[in-house]
Amino acid sequence: MKMNRLEELIHQDLKPYVRKIDAEAFYAEDYLKGIGEAGYLHSRNGLDESILLAQEVRVVEETAKVCMTTAFNLWCHLASLTYIRRSDNAYLKNEILPLLEEGKILGGTGLSNPMKYYAGLEVLHLKAKKVDGGYVVNGQLPSVSNLGPDHWFGIIAEVDEDQRVMAVVPCNAEGLTLKAKLEYMAVNGSATFSCAFNEVRIPEKWIVSHDVDRFIQKIRPAFVLYQIPLGLGVTEASITSVRQVCNKQGGCNQYLPIQPDELEAELRAIREEVYKIAKDPALPERVQELLKLRLRIVYLTSKASHAAMLHQGGAGYLQNSAPSRRLRESYFLVNLTPTVKHLEKMLN
Ligand SMILES: Cc1cc2nc3c(=O)[nH]c(=O)nc-3n(C[C@H](O)[C@H](O)[C@H](O)COP(=O)(O)OP(=O)(O)OC[C@H]3O[C@@H](n4cnc5c(N)ncnc54)[C@H](O)[C@@H]3O)c2cc1C
Repeated sequence: MKMNRLEELIHQDLKPYVRKIDAEAFYAEDYLKGIGEAGYLHSRNGLDESILLAQEVRVVEETAKVCMTTAFNLWCHLASLTYIRRSDNAYLKNEILPLLEEGKILGGTGLSNPMKYYAGLEVLHLKAKKVDGGYVVNGQLPSVSNLGPDHWFGIIAEVDEDQRVMAVVPCNAEGLTLKAKLEYMAVNGSATFSCAFNEVRIPEKWIVSHDVDRFIQKIRPAFVLYQIPLGLGVTEASITSVRQVCNKQGGCNQYLPIQPDELEAELRAIREEVYKIAKDPALPERVQELLKLRLRIVYLTSKASHAAMLHQGGAGYLQNSAPSRRLRESYFLVNLTPTVKHLEKMLN
């Protein structure tokens, strides 16, 4: 793994922009493209799939240590890669996948509503009509991130009671209107848009699967797996922040209820499990374990980012402080599909 190049990219193209990403909704597009250009996402260079997966998880984790917003963008991109990698569509695999993996274009995912649909929480928002040579799609997705003029993203639409189709769609498709969403408490640099589909024509060559009810099983493990390192990175950064101030004011932070050793032990346990599962060829059978780890990391990330606020005191309470940014960002992990309530439902 060429981690030194990753460190360079983080140092040059991410660290200097973190405050701008948080405070001015700056989208770190160059960094995201740089990850692909550096070869971290190439599935076609003979690398064993499980090693590639672990490498991608590591890149998300390292990114999240510095900026969870951008790590989330990377997750969006990885989700879109997953859809095409698992598809049988030759056009998408041969023409679009290389562009995405090499960072020439970027991808997103509008699958939050379909994931909730499959968990019995919502009806599908997008409807597809079969027409000559493809489908016509109508409906609205309230939030899709990592979008831009030359980006593509995954969608699922209902044809009828018995059939749902999945496609990837370019943002410049005719009939598709994007509206920027910038009023969140954090992650405004995530290039998030509402997407209105008005008679959007989806040709066959954009179709990822005609049988999503089965296909969803193939993408769910990687979809969830890639989210866990968002929390690993933020938790590690929060622990570092706690340790930075352990000697302040005569060491009185030692009396606080949450201490770094405890956070570190839980972080280590989750991290070990995650990388073990990422490298396991039997990954598709381990979704339940991934969902449990995903839930554990949400709670740990919330706990660690809250602890950093307690330990840092006044310095953390400043509007632009790193602990306060991480605290706000940590609430997004709670609300990212599968949300904490969605996970609790699935696991109970
Ligand atoms: C910053 C940010 C980025 C996101 N990025 C993505 C993404 O890339 N892809 C993706 O699929 N999802 C994305 N989401 C959605 C996310 O994954 C969760 O689904 C959502 O944050 C919370 O879901 P919830 O279960 O609390 O539903 P709620 O937010 O309570 O929503 C309940 C229902 O209302 C609908 N709804 C919510 N707001 C609107 C609206 N303004 N107009 C119309 N319907 C609405 C929802 O789709 C849902 O059906 C993003 C959310 C946020 C806050």
